[in-house]
Amino acid sequence: MPFCQKCGAELQENAKFCPECGQPTGTAPVPSVSAETTTTQRKPILGLIGIVLILIGIGVAFANATIGILVLLVGVIILIFALFTGNVKVFG
Ligand SMILES: [Zn+2]
Repeated sequence: MPFCQKCGAELQENAKFCPECGQPTGTAPVPSVSAETTTTQRKPILGLIGIVLILIGIGVAFANATIGILVLLVGVIILIFALFTGNVKVFG
């Protein structure tokens, strides 16, 4: 007869959880701390998009100055936004 690994209560053979404390029985996998995902990847990607847009804007500016400057400005805004959110995350 199995016993609970947490509280030592006697368990049913087919029980999946301890009736006393709710601990999963047998070789149930311990929930691992894998919540630390890609929170820091967001800023470099945003900055990369901004840099790419700036480069595209410079390239387009040779053909059409107005559109090129507009794309370049959007890229600069995204880059500033990426840097700004990066600074905010230091406090959060
Ligand atoms: Zn238990």
